[in-house]
Amino acid sequence: MNQALEEAKKAALLGEVPIGAVLVYEGEIIARAHNLRETTQNATTHAELMVIQEACKKLGSWRLEQTTLYVTLEPCPMCAGAILQSRVPRVVYGARDIKAGCVDSLYHLLNDARFNHDCDVTEGILAEECGQILTDFFRALRERKKAEKKARKMAESSEPQ
Ligand SMILES: [Zn+2]
Repeated sequence: MNQALEEAKKAALLGEVPIGAVLVYEGEIIARAHNLRETTQNATTHAELMVIQEACKKLGSWRLEQTTLYVTLEPCPMCAGAILQSRVPRVVYGARDIKAGCVDSLYHLLNDARFNHDCDVTEGILAEECGQILTDFFRALRERKKAEKKARKMAESSEPQ
């Protein structure tokens, strides 16, 4: 999870919402990624989807058996779907996402007997750090927006009448 957090920090440096993921196979990290939605302007470039794609390429299989996916934030419906489709047997995540999480918060997509794949889920690993990096990111974003607004107002009021 520390490695996933490192990925999340890389995202923050790019001005991306800081979410990171790594995928482990036979005790080794075979894929790592961070959210790149703003950079790519592509809604599917979530960290989890990218590690799944990279791992499939490396293992030469769409079935990611005997792997563990570590991600800093509870997966969204899209990523939970990809986890089911790629048969990842184990997911470990940090913080819950009460607004979009589909593993424990809004839905339990990874543990729904109606699907043909059941995933072993562990939550709350380094949850505080994983959540804090998001809180800090959004706070800084709000402050930057506020400062920009203030600067705009000052520029407007100093314009000659
Ligand atoms: Zn996602």
